[in-house]
Amino acid sequence: MNLYNTLTRQKEELKPLKRGTIGLYCCGPTVYNYAHIGNLRTFLFEDFLRRALEFSGYKVNQVMNITDVGHLTSDADEGEDKMAKGAKREHKTVWEIAKEYTDAFFADVDALNIRRATRYPRATDHIREMIALIRRLEKNGFTYVAGGNVYFDTSKLNDYGKLAGAAFVGTRHALSLQDVARVETDPNKKHPRNFVLWFTESKHGNQDMQWESPWGRGFPGWHIECSAMSMKYLGDHFDIHCGGIDHISVHHTNEIAQSEGALGKEWVHTWLHGNFLTIKDARMAKSGGNFLTLQVLKDKGFDALDYRYFCLQAHYSQELTFSWEGLDAAKTALRRLKEKIKKILVETQNFASKTQKTKNKYLSSFTAALADDLNMPQALALVWELVDDGTISAMDKLSTVQEMDKVLGLKLDEKTTFDIPEGIRKLVDQRNAARAKKDWKASDALRDQIQAAGYVVKDESGRTVVEPK
Ligand SMILES: [Zn+2]
Repeated sequence: MNLYNTLTRQKEELKPLKRGTIGLYCCGPTVYNYAHIGNLRTFLFEDFLRRALEFSGYKVNQVMNITDVGHLTSDADEGEDKMAKGAKREHKTVWEIAKEYTDAFFADVDALNIRRATRYPRATDHIREMIALIRRLEKNGFTYVAGGNVYFDTSKLNDYGKLAGAAFVGTRHALSLQDVARVETDPNKKHPRNFVLWFTESKHGNQDMQWESPWGRGFPGWHIECSAMSMKYLGDHFDIHCGGIDHISVHHTNEIAQSEGALGKEWVHTWLHGNFLTIKDARMAKSGGNFLTLQVLKDKGFDALDYRYFCLQAHYSQELTFSWEGLDAAKTALRRLKEKIKKILVETQNFASKTQKTKNKYLSSFTAALADDLNMPQALALVWELVDDGTISAMDKLSTVQEMDKVLGLKLDEKTTFDIPEGIRKLVDQRNAARAKKDWKASDALRDQIQAAGYVVKDESGRTVVEPK
Protein backbone atom coordinates (compact mmCIF):
# COMPACT_ATOMS: atom_id res chain seq x y z
CA MET A 1 0.00 0.00 0.00
CA ASN A 2 1.35 3.42 -0.96
CA LEU A 3 0.34 6.34 1.22
CA TYR A 4 1.20 10.03 1.15
CA ASN A 5 3.25 10.73 4.26
CA THR A 6 2.95 14.31 5.52
CA LEU A 7 6.27 13.93 7.35
CA THR A 8 8.33 13.11 4.26
CA ARG A 9 6.02 14.85 1.78
CA GLN A 10 5.90 11.89 -0.57
CA LYS A 11 4.02 8.71 -1.32
CA GLU A 12 5.69 5.82 0.42
CA GLU A 13 5.15 2.11 0.57
CA LEU A 14 3.71 1.16 3.93
CA LYS A 15 6.13 -1.07 5.81
CA PRO A 16 4.54 -2.39 9.01
CA LEU A 17 6.74 -2.51 12.10
CA LYS A 18 5.28 -5.92 12.91
CA ARG A 19 4.45 -8.24 10.04
CA GLY A 20 0.73 -8.43 9.26
CA THR A 21 -0.43 -5.85 11.78
CA ILE A 22 -0.86 -2.09 11.76
CA GLY A 23 -0.93 0.12 14.83
CA LEU A 24 -3.12 3.10 13.95
CA TYR A 25 -3.74 6.14 16.13
CA CYS A 26 -6.39 8.72 15.25
CA CYS A 27 -7.03 11.92 17.19
CA GLY A 28 -10.59 11.73 18.46
CA PRO A 29 -13.34 14.18 19.35
CA THR A 30 -13.35 16.81 22.09
CA VAL A 31 -16.65 15.92 23.69
CA TYR A 32 -18.02 19.35 24.54
CA ASN A 33 -20.47 19.55 21.65
CA TYR A 34 -21.78 17.54 18.70
CA ALA A 35 -19.24 16.71 16.01
CA HIS A 36 -19.70 18.92 12.97
CA ILE A 37 -19.75 17.24 9.59
CA GLY A 38 -16.20 18.45 8.92
CA ASN A 39 -14.97 16.38 11.91
CA LEU A 40 -17.06 13.50 10.63
CA ARG A 41 -15.35 13.70 7.24
CA THR A 42 -12.02 13.08 9.02
CA PHE A 43 -13.44 10.12 10.97
CA LEU A 44 -14.85 8.69 7.71
CA PHE A 45 -11.44 9.02 6.01
CA GLU A 46 -9.89 7.12 8.91
CA ASP A 47 -12.58 4.45 8.60
CA PHE A 48 -11.86 4.05 4.87
CA LEU A 49 -8.17 3.72 5.72
CA ARG A 50 -8.76 1.15 8.42
CA ARG A 51 -11.13 -0.89 6.23
CA ALA A 52 -8.70 -0.70 3.27
CA LEU A 53 -5.86 -1.97 5.48
CA GLU A 54 -8.04 -4.83 6.70
CA PHE A 55 -9.12 -5.55 3.13
CA SER A 56 -5.43 -5.83 2.22
CA GLY A 57 -5.03 -8.47 4.90
CA TYR A 58 -3.65 -6.50 7.84
CA LYS A 59 -4.88 -6.85 11.36
CA VAL A 60 -5.47 -3.27 12.49
CA ASN A 61 -5.16 -2.14 16.08
CA GLN A 62 -6.89 1.24 15.97
CA VAL A 63 -6.90 3.60 18.94
CA MET A 64 -8.86 6.84 19.07
CA ASN A 65 -8.81 9.12 22.10
CA ILE A 66 -11.77 10.86 23.64
CA THR A 67 -10.69 14.34 24.75
CA ASP A 68 -12.65 15.21 27.86
CA VAL A 69 -10.17 17.55 29.51
CA GLY A 70 -7.53 20.15 28.70
CA HIS A 71 -8.49 21.32 25.20
CA LEU A 72 -8.72 25.10 25.07
CA THR A 73 -10.59 26.97 22.34
CA SER A 74 -7.28 27.71 20.67
CA ASP A 75 -5.13 24.66 20.01
CA ALA A 76 -2.18 26.76 21.20
CA ASP A 77 -3.11 26.99 24.90
CA GLU A 78 -5.18 30.16 24.61
CA GLY A 79 -8.79 30.92 25.40
CA GLU A 80 -11.43 29.14 27.38
CA ASP A 81 -11.48 25.46 28.27
CA LYS A 82 -13.79 23.74 25.79
CA MET A 83 -15.36 21.42 28.36
CA ALA A 84 -16.05 24.31 30.74
CA LYS A 85 -17.55 26.24 27.84
CA GLY A 86 -19.93 23.35 27.07
CA ALA A 87 -20.89 23.04 30.74
CA LYS A 88 -21.64 26.76 31.02
CA ARG A 89 -23.72 26.69 27.84
CA GLU A 90 -25.92 23.87 29.10
CA HIS A 91 -25.85 24.55 32.84
CA LYS A 92 -24.40 21.11 33.51
CA THR A 93 -21.21 19.76 35.03
CA VAL A 94 -18.25 19.08 32.77
CA TRP A 95 -18.65 15.39 33.57
CA GLU A 96 -22.26 15.41 32.38
CA ILE A 97 -21.21 17.23 29.23
CA ALA A 98 -18.47 14.68 28.57
CA LYS A 99 -20.92 11.79 28.97
CA GLU A 100 -23.60 13.41 26.80
CA TYR A 101 -21.31 14.20 23.87
CA THR A 102 -19.35 10.97 24.06
CA ASP A 103 -22.68 9.16 23.61
CA ALA A 104 -23.58 11.52 20.75
CA PHE A 105 -20.23 10.82 19.09
CA PHE A 106 -20.81 7.05 19.16
CA ALA A 107 -24.32 7.50 17.78
CA ASP A 108 -22.80 9.37 14.81
CA VAL A 109 -20.09 6.74 14.38
CA ASP A 110 -22.67 3.95 14.24
CA ALA A 111 -25.05 5.86 11.94
CA LEU A 112 -22.20 6.49 9.49
CA ASN A 113 -21.28 2.79 9.61
CA ILE A 114 -17.81 3.66 10.86
CA ARG A 115 -16.22 0.55 12.34
CA ARG A 116 -15.57 1.05 16.01
CA ALA A 117 -11.91 1.43 16.91
CA THR A 118 -10.23 -1.27 18.97
CA ARG A 119 -10.13 1.17 21.88
CA TYR A 120 -11.39 4.63 22.79
CA PRO A 121 -9.33 5.73 25.81
CA ARG A 122 -10.58 8.79 27.67
CA ALA A 123 -8.10 11.47 28.66
CA THR A 124 -9.48 11.74 32.20
CA ASP A 125 -8.74 8.03 32.75
CA HIS A 126 -5.06 8.51 31.86
CA ILE A 127 -3.85 11.39 34.00
CA ARG A 128 -1.32 9.07 35.67
CA GLU A 129 0.25 8.14 32.31
CA MET A 130 0.40 11.82 31.30
CA ILE A 131 2.12 12.79 34.54
CA ALA A 132 4.62 9.95 34.05
CA LEU A 133 5.40 11.19 30.53
CA ILE A 134 5.85 14.78 31.72
CA ARG A 135 8.24 13.50 34.41
CA ARG A 136 10.19 11.68 31.73
CA LEU A 137 10.45 14.89 29.71
CA GLU A 138 11.48 16.71 32.86
CA LYS A 139 14.25 14.17 33.41
CA ASN A 140 15.41 14.58 29.81
CA GLY A 141 15.63 18.35 30.27
CA PHE A 142 12.76 19.45 27.99
CA THR A 143 10.57 21.19 30.58
CA TYR A 144 10.52 24.23 32.81
CA VAL A 145 8.02 25.60 35.30
CA ALA A 146 6.81 29.17 35.11
CA GLY A 147 3.84 30.83 36.80
CA GLY A 148 2.83 27.42 38.18
CA ASN A 149 2.54 25.74 34.78
CA VAL A 150 4.84 23.16 33.23
CA TYR A 151 6.03 24.08 29.74
CA PHE A 152 7.73 22.14 26.98
CA ASP A 153 10.82 24.02 25.85
CA THR A 154 10.81 23.61 22.07
CA SER A 155 14.25 25.22 21.72
CA LYS A 156 15.73 22.06 23.27
CA LEU A 157 14.57 19.93 20.32
CA ASN A 158 16.64 20.28 17.15
CA ASP A 159 13.99 19.35 14.61
CA TYR A 160 10.92 20.89 16.26
CA GLY A 161 8.29 21.67 13.63
CA LYS A 162 9.55 19.12 11.09
CA LEU A 163 6.01 17.87 10.38
CA ALA A 164 4.74 21.31 9.44
CA GLY A 165 7.90 22.24 7.57
CA ALA A 166 8.07 25.01 5.03
CA ALA A 167 5.16 23.69 2.99
CA PHE A 168 2.55 24.85 5.47
CA VAL A 169 3.97 28.14 6.50
CA GLY A 170 1.82 30.90 5.12
CA THR A 171 -0.90 28.68 3.66
CA ARG A 172 -4.47 29.37 4.61
CA HIS A 173 -5.07 25.79 5.70
CA ALA A 174 -3.02 25.72 8.81
CA LEU A 175 -1.85 28.04 11.47
CA SER A 176 1.83 28.44 10.58
CA LEU A 177 4.49 28.47 13.25
CA GLN A 178 4.87 32.18 12.62
CA ASP A 179 1.13 32.63 13.19
CA VAL A 180 1.37 30.77 16.46
CA ALA A 181 4.16 33.10 17.47
CA ARG A 182 2.09 36.12 16.56
CA VAL A 183 -1.05 35.20 18.50
CA GLU A 184 0.78 33.94 21.55
CA THR A 185 0.27 36.06 24.65
CA ASP A 186 1.35 33.87 27.58
CA PRO A 187 4.21 35.79 29.25
CA ASN A 188 5.48 32.55 30.86
CA LYS A 189 6.45 31.13 27.51
CA LYS A 190 10.17 31.68 27.07
CA HIS A 191 9.61 31.07 23.41
CA PRO A 192 6.28 31.61 21.61
CA ARG A 193 6.29 28.05 20.27
CA ASN A 194 6.58 26.52 23.74
CA PHE A 195 3.45 24.86 25.00
CA VAL A 196 1.85 23.77 28.25
CA LEU A 197 2.18 20.22 29.53
CA TRP A 198 0.43 20.80 32.85
CA PHE A 199 -1.78 23.67 34.01
CA THR A 200 -2.18 24.43 37.70
CA GLU A 201 -4.67 26.59 39.51
CA SER A 202 -2.51 29.58 38.68
CA LYS A 203 -3.99 29.68 35.21
CA HIS A 204 -7.49 28.27 35.56
CA GLY A 205 -8.43 28.48 39.21
CA ASN A 206 -12.08 27.63 38.68
CA GLN A 207 -11.37 24.48 36.67
CA ASP A 208 -13.73 21.66 37.75
CA MET A 209 -11.50 18.84 36.58
CA GLN A 210 -8.37 18.78 38.70
CA TRP A 211 -5.82 16.22 39.78
CA GLU A 212 -2.84 16.16 42.10
CA SER A 213 0.53 16.28 40.38
CA PRO A 214 4.19 16.80 41.32
CA TRP A 215 3.76 20.41 40.11
CA GLY A 216 0.57 21.17 41.97
CA ARG A 217 -3.13 20.51 41.62
CA GLY A 218 -4.30 21.08 38.08
CA PHE A 219 -4.96 19.47 34.71
CA PRO A 220 -2.99 18.42 31.63
CA GLY A 221 -2.42 20.36 28.42
CA TRP A 222 -4.22 18.99 25.39
CA HIS A 223 -1.31 17.52 23.39
CA ILE A 224 0.14 15.29 26.12
CA GLU A 225 -2.88 12.97 26.20
CA CYS A 226 -2.31 11.71 22.65
CA SER A 227 1.37 10.96 23.26
CA ALA A 228 0.63 9.21 26.56
CA MET A 229 -2.36 7.15 25.43
CA SER A 230 -1.06 6.15 21.99
CA MET A 231 2.18 4.87 23.51
CA LYS A 232 0.29 3.06 26.26
CA TYR A 233 -1.94 1.13 23.87
CA LEU A 234 0.17 0.87 20.72
CA GLY A 235 3.69 0.76 22.15
CA ASP A 236 6.51 3.32 21.95
CA HIS A 237 6.45 3.14 18.16
CA PHE A 238 3.50 2.40 15.90
CA ASP A 239 2.74 2.52 12.20
CA ILE A 240 0.34 5.34 11.33
CA HIS A 241 -0.88 8.51 13.03
CA CYS A 242 -3.89 10.28 11.54
CA GLY A 243 -5.90 13.43 11.98
CA GLY A 244 -7.25 16.48 10.24
CA ILE A 245 -4.76 18.79 8.49
CA ASP A 246 -5.59 21.52 10.99
CA HIS A 247 -3.60 19.43 13.49
CA ILE A 248 -0.35 19.50 11.56
CA SER A 249 1.16 22.77 12.71
CA VAL A 250 0.35 22.73 16.43
CA HIS A 251 -1.18 19.58 17.87
CA HIS A 252 0.71 16.94 15.91
CA THR A 253 3.88 19.02 15.91
CA ASN A 254 3.70 19.11 19.70
CA GLU A 255 2.79 15.43 20.01
CA ILE A 256 5.95 14.62 18.06
CA ALA A 257 8.02 16.99 20.24
CA GLN A 258 6.80 15.33 23.46
CA SER A 259 7.09 11.75 22.25
CA GLU A 260 10.50 12.15 20.63
CA GLY A 261 11.71 14.21 23.59
CA ALA A 262 10.86 11.23 25.77
CA LEU A 263 12.06 8.48 23.41
CA GLY A 264 15.14 10.19 22.03
CA LYS A 265 14.44 8.99 18.49
CA GLU A 266 11.80 9.01 15.73
CA TRP A 267 8.39 8.13 17.11
CA VAL A 268 5.93 7.46 14.27
CA HIS A 269 7.06 7.47 10.66
CA THR A 270 3.80 7.69 8.71
CA TRP A 271 1.45 10.66 9.18
CA LEU A 272 -1.78 10.94 7.19
CA HIS A 273 -4.02 13.99 7.19
CA GLY A 274 -7.56 14.44 5.98
CA ASN A 275 -8.33 17.75 4.32
CA PHE A 276 -11.08 20.20 5.23
CA LEU A 277 -14.73 20.18 4.41
CA THR A 278 -15.60 23.68 3.33
CA ILE A 279 -18.77 25.56 2.62
CA LYS A 280 -18.35 28.07 -0.16
CA ASP A 281 -14.74 28.56 0.86
CA ALA A 282 -15.52 29.42 4.48
CA ARG A 283 -13.93 26.90 6.80
CA MET A 284 -16.45 25.05 8.90
CA ALA A 285 -15.49 25.40 12.48
CA LYS A 286 -17.49 25.12 15.63
CA SER A 287 -16.61 28.69 16.45
CA GLY A 288 -18.09 29.90 13.15
CA GLY A 289 -21.73 30.16 12.18
CA ASN A 290 -21.86 27.13 9.90
CA PHE A 291 -22.46 24.53 12.56
CA LEU A 292 -23.72 21.54 10.64
CA THR A 293 -24.18 18.25 12.45
CA LEU A 294 -25.35 14.85 11.26
CA GLN A 295 -28.67 15.56 12.95
CA VAL A 296 -29.16 18.68 10.80
CA LEU A 297 -28.66 16.48 7.72
CA LYS A 298 -31.12 13.90 9.06
CA ASP A 299 -33.67 16.64 9.81
CA LYS A 300 -33.50 17.59 6.15
CA GLY A 301 -34.39 14.04 5.13
CA PHE A 302 -30.93 12.63 4.46
CA ASP A 303 -29.61 9.33 5.67
CA ALA A 304 -26.19 9.25 7.36
CA LEU A 305 -25.00 6.96 4.57
CA ASP A 306 -25.83 9.64 1.99
CA TYR A 307 -23.14 11.72 3.68
CA ARG A 308 -20.78 8.73 3.68
CA TYR A 309 -21.32 8.41 -0.08
CA PHE A 310 -20.81 12.17 -0.49
CA CYS A 311 -17.41 11.95 1.24
CA LEU A 312 -16.36 8.92 -0.82
CA GLN A 313 -16.47 11.06 -3.95
CA ALA A 314 -13.43 13.14 -3.00
CA HIS A 315 -9.89 12.07 -2.25
CA TYR A 316 -9.09 12.56 1.42
CA SER A 317 -6.21 14.90 0.65
CA GLN A 318 -8.44 17.27 -1.31
CA GLU A 319 -10.69 19.93 0.09
CA LEU A 320 -14.34 18.98 -0.29
CA THR A 321 -17.00 21.64 -0.66
CA PHE A 322 -20.28 20.82 1.01
CA SER A 323 -23.58 21.92 -0.49
CA TRP A 324 -27.13 20.69 -0.15
CA GLU A 325 -27.25 20.11 -3.92
CA GLY A 326 -24.13 17.98 -3.66
CA LEU A 327 -25.58 15.94 -0.82
CA ASP A 328 -28.82 15.53 -2.74
CA ALA A 329 -26.89 14.22 -5.76
CA ALA A 330 -25.08 11.77 -3.49
CA LYS A 331 -28.39 10.57 -2.08
CA THR A 332 -29.82 10.01 -5.56
CA ALA A 333 -26.68 8.21 -6.72
CA LEU A 334 -26.67 5.92 -3.69
CA ARG A 335 -30.34 5.08 -4.21
CA ARG A 336 -29.75 4.31 -7.90
CA LEU A 337 -26.78 2.13 -7.07
CA LYS A 338 -28.80 0.19 -4.50
CA GLU A 339 -31.62 -0.30 -6.99
CA LYS A 340 -29.19 -1.74 -9.52
CA ILE A 341 -27.80 -4.06 -6.89
CA LYS A 342 -31.28 -5.15 -5.88
CA LYS A 343 -31.97 -6.12 -9.50
CA ILE A 344 -28.76 -8.10 -9.57
CA LEU A 345 -29.80 -9.83 -6.38
CA VAL A 346 -33.23 -10.71 -7.75
CA GLU A 347 -31.48 -12.11 -10.78
CA THR A 348 -29.18 -14.31 -8.70
CA GLN A 349 -32.03 -15.53 -6.52
CA ASN A 350 -34.18 -16.50 -9.46
CA PHE A 351 -31.60 -17.77 -11.92
CA ALA A 352 -28.65 -18.77 -9.82
CA SER A 353 -28.21 -22.02 -11.71
CA LYS A 354 -28.05 -20.17 -15.01
CA THR A 355 -25.20 -17.92 -13.94
CA GLN A 356 -21.69 -18.98 -13.32
CA LYS A 357 -19.21 -17.54 -10.87
CA THR A 358 -16.10 -16.41 -12.68
CA LYS A 359 -13.14 -14.28 -11.82
CA ASN A 360 -13.37 -10.67 -12.92
CA LYS A 361 -10.91 -7.84 -13.16
CA TYR A 362 -12.84 -5.50 -10.88
CA LEU A 363 -11.62 -6.71 -7.55
CA SER A 364 -7.98 -6.38 -8.52
CA SER A 365 -8.59 -2.87 -9.92
CA PHE A 366 -10.41 -2.01 -6.72
CA THR A 367 -7.50 -3.25 -4.59
CA ALA A 368 -5.09 -1.25 -6.76
CA ALA A 369 -7.16 1.93 -6.25
CA LEU A 370 -7.03 1.47 -2.47
CA ALA A 371 -3.29 0.82 -2.57
CA ASP A 372 -2.78 4.06 -4.51
CA ASP A 373 -2.98 6.39 -1.51
CA LEU A 374 -6.54 5.34 -0.72
CA ASN A 375 -8.16 6.46 -3.96
CA MET A 376 -11.78 6.08 -2.84
CA PRO A 377 -13.33 8.06 -5.75
CA GLN A 378 -11.71 5.55 -8.13
CA ALA A 379 -12.86 2.64 -5.96
CA LEU A 380 -16.42 3.98 -6.05
CA ALA A 381 -16.29 4.47 -9.83
CA LEU A 382 -15.35 0.80 -10.20
CA VAL A 383 -18.54 -0.31 -8.41
CA TRP A 384 -20.59 1.64 -10.95
CA GLU A 385 -18.62 0.19 -13.85
CA LEU A 386 -19.11 -3.30 -12.48
CA VAL A 387 -22.88 -3.15 -11.98
CA ASP A 388 -23.33 -1.90 -15.54
CA ASP A 389 -20.97 -4.41 -17.13
CA GLY A 390 -23.04 -6.77 -19.29
CA THR A 391 -20.24 -9.31 -19.60
CA ILE A 392 -20.23 -10.21 -15.91
CA SER A 393 -22.73 -12.68 -14.46
CA ALA A 394 -25.15 -11.51 -11.78
CA MET A 395 -23.74 -14.00 -9.30
CA ASP A 396 -20.24 -12.71 -9.88
CA LYS A 397 -21.37 -9.08 -9.72
CA LEU A 398 -23.09 -9.62 -6.42
CA SER A 399 -20.18 -11.33 -4.71
CA THR A 400 -17.79 -8.66 -6.01
CA VAL A 401 -20.03 -5.82 -4.82
CA GLN A 402 -20.26 -7.45 -1.40
CA GLU A 403 -16.47 -7.64 -1.22
CA MET A 404 -16.09 -4.00 -2.26
CA ASP A 405 -18.68 -2.90 0.26
CA LYS A 406 -16.46 -4.21 3.05
CA VAL A 407 -14.41 -1.07 2.39
CA LEU A 408 -17.06 1.34 1.10
CA GLY A 409 -19.38 0.52 4.00
CA LEU A 410 -22.49 1.74 2.17
CA LYS A 411 -24.63 -1.31 3.10
CA LEU A 412 -25.20 -1.79 -0.61
CA ASP A 413 -27.13 -5.03 -0.30
CA GLU A 414 -28.95 -4.12 2.89
CA LYS A 415 -32.67 -4.83 2.96
CA THR A 416 -32.30 -6.58 -0.37
CA THR A 417 -30.88 -9.82 0.95
CA PHE A 418 -33.45 -12.58 0.76
CA ASP A 419 -33.66 -16.25 0.01
CA ILE A 420 -36.37 -17.83 -2.05
CA PRO A 421 -37.40 -21.09 -0.40
CA GLU A 422 -37.15 -24.31 -2.35
CA GLY A 423 -40.97 -24.70 -2.44
CA ILE A 424 -41.40 -21.34 -4.17
CA ARG A 425 -38.54 -22.11 -6.54
CA LYS A 426 -40.38 -25.27 -7.63
CA LEU A 427 -43.56 -23.28 -8.30
CA VAL A 428 -41.51 -20.82 -10.39
CA ASP A 429 -40.05 -23.67 -12.42
CA GLN A 430 -43.53 -25.14 -12.94
CA ARG A 431 -44.84 -21.74 -14.02
CA ASN A 432 -41.99 -21.29 -16.51
CA ALA A 433 -42.73 -24.74 -17.88
CA ALA A 434 -46.48 -23.96 -18.18
CA ARG A 435 -45.71 -20.71 -20.02
CA ALA A 436 -43.36 -22.51 -22.38
CA LYS A 437 -46.28 -24.79 -23.27
CA LYS A 438 -48.54 -21.70 -23.52
CA ASP A 439 -50.72 -23.19 -20.77
CA TRP A 440 -51.92 -19.79 -19.55
CA LYS A 441 -54.48 -21.19 -17.15
CA ALA A 442 -51.91 -23.22 -15.23
CA SER A 443 -49.45 -20.32 -15.42
CA ASP A 444 -51.97 -17.91 -13.87
CA ALA A 445 -52.92 -20.36 -11.13
CA LEU A 446 -49.26 -20.82 -10.23
CA ARG A 447 -48.77 -17.06 -10.20
CA ASP A 448 -51.66 -16.68 -7.73
CA GLN A 449 -50.21 -19.42 -5.56
CA ILE A 450 -46.78 -17.73 -5.44
CA GLN A 451 -48.35 -14.35 -4.71
CA ALA A 452 -50.43 -15.84 -1.89
CA ALA A 453 -47.17 -17.07 -0.33
CA GLY A 454 -45.99 -13.45 -0.07
CA TYR A 455 -44.04 -12.86 -3.28
CA VAL A 456 -44.25 -10.36 -6.11
CA VAL A 457 -44.35 -12.13 -9.47
CA LYS A 458 -42.99 -10.39 -12.56
CA ASP A 459 -42.46 -11.50 -16.12
CA GLU A 460 -39.08 -10.37 -17.34
CA SER A 461 -37.82 -11.34 -20.78
CA GLY A 462 -40.19 -14.29 -20.83
CA ARG A 463 -39.05 -15.55 -17.43
CA THR A 464 -40.78 -15.57 -14.08
CA VAL A 465 -39.01 -13.39 -11.53
CA VAL A 466 -40.07 -13.33 -7.89
CA GLU A 467 -39.08 -11.28 -4.89
CA PRO A 468 -40.57 -10.86 -1.42
CA LYS A 469 -43.44 -8.34 -1.16
ZN1 LIG B 1 -4.11 14.05 19.12
